[in-house]
Amino acid sequence: MFLAHLAERLEEELAAPDEKGTERQVEIDMESLVKQAADEPKPDFYYASQTQQTRYKCEHCSEFNDIRGLYGYCAACGWRNNVQMLAVRFEEIRQSLNDGRSQPEAATGQSVSAFDAACRDFANQLVRRIPMKAARKEALSRLVFHDIESETFKRLKNSFDLDPLKGIVDKDARFIRLMMERRHVFEHNAGVIDRRYVERSGDEDAVEGNLLRENRENAHRLIGLLARIASNVETDFHEIFTPTEWPVNYFKERQKRSSR
Ligand SMILES: [Zn+2]
Repeated sequence: MFLAHLAERLEEELAAPDEKGTERQVEIDMESLVKQAADEPKPDFYYASQTQQTRYKCEHCSEFNDIRGLYGYCAACGWRNNVQMLAVRFEEIRQSLNDGRSQPEAATGQSVSAFDAACRDFANQLVRRIPMKAARKEALSRLVFHDIESETFKRLKNSFDLDPLKGIVDKDARFIRLMMERRHVFEHNAGVIDRRYVERSGDEDAVEGNLLRENRENAHRLIGLLARIASNVETDFHEIFTPTEWPVNYFKERQKRSSR
């Protein structure tokens, strides 16, 4: 945990804009940390007895990771785990849909919000790790992924050459837009169709004031498409921040040998 704190501090320092040719010195003052008043926030490692919150085995190199929060970089290969965590969540949502524990309306909201969080974290990583002017930083920190027609997708393309909608055909994009508008109705209007939905969803049967119903097939189809978009974001993200190859290759080798 202590090492993780050091690494995080170092990462933050090194991510800061740098002038060419200047030497950097990163200072981490242990003594002042210990002397801090009791009500000042202390870094995570200080609470040595606290357990971390997400334990997972990296799907790219099989390294075991134990991290605070939900998202993080694999300690061995550097893959960010967002898509892996999202897949786990999507699987849970699909399961409870199938065995009737959750309604398609709820499942739609849950999948969009899990997707939104995973993608926003990628955007936040770009903001943290790539030197940029304040205005761009500000614009990027406001990105949302629960509206396919928002500025988000254009911005990612223009600023970072990220293409979340790569390979998503028009018909599917229209379906995603429809479902995201439906989510809005379920989450914010108790399922009652409002004017916004009539105007923006593309749903020609929509009548303002009627109750909107969802079905399981739509929810499953949406989850499949969201998984593809998130995976596009991941691929482009790791083209910018390249993972360390040897743990990944070593893992592949071992898998090949054991399957022989
Ligand atoms: Zn890994």
